[in-house]
Amino acid sequence: MGKADLHIHTTYSMDGTASVREALESAVRAGLDVITITDHNEIQGALEAREICARFGVEVIPGVEVTTKDGHLVALFVEQDILRGMSVIDTLLLIRDLGGIAIAPHPQQPVPNSITLHSIRRALEHPLAREALLGIEVCNMNPSHSPYNQHSQQIAEGLPLARIASSDAHMASMIGAAITHFEGRSTQELRQAIQRRATRPEQVNHENPQRVFFRWLRLYFRRQFSQPKPSGL
Ligand SMILES: [Zn+2]
Ligand SMILES: [Zn+2]
Repeated sequence: MGKADLHIHTTYSMDGTASVREALESAVRAGLDVITITDHNEIQGALEAREICARFGVEVIPGVEVTTKDGHLVALFVEQDILRGMSVIDTLLLIRDLGGIAIAPHPQQPVPNSITLHSIRRALEHPLAREALLGIEVCNMNPSHSPYNQHSQQIAEGLPLARIASSDAHMASMIGAAITHFEGRSTQELRQAIQRRATRPEQVNHENPQRVFFRWLRLYFRRQFSQPKPSGL
């Protein structure tokens, strides 16, 4: 079985603290086969990661976490920025046109930018949007979201979507904090597993969310004062 972490931020996200290189090193340490870099509305870090990932021995799916009018959406297998601020349906149609697929991250949580169950259901009723929306996060280890993971699991019950567990890491040490298991090891086998709804989510890290948050805060401020711009490579 392969291990994937499909929701990772780098310094190309305003709130990310890991450079692309640090993210790849951390993925290897965590024993991951496949990762997705999904910066907020920014593809550059993902493309850089894919460019150099062979040296690290981990496969990278390019992706982006898009801010739609109705909350966040994680797009995988896309190679360009996606216009922010569109409806979930229009965003999914664009992802589909680009040959990508999408995952609903931190669904229906009482936290800003969470996609609602209503939006997910509407997308699943749409004959084309449903072809792109294939997964739902039942576990997200970002300390803003992890307290509501049980709620996300309940939301996912009865929905025809692959179960995904992701770190939503904003620092290198959290990469692999939650893992999606799939049959095979490659990006294409992962895609097929998501299409078959045959993924298995696992929470790996059980640290207190407050501790994770303060660890991130320290790193964030340290980066702000020492390296004010994205370090990328
Ligand atoms: Zn998000
Ligand atoms: Zn995120």
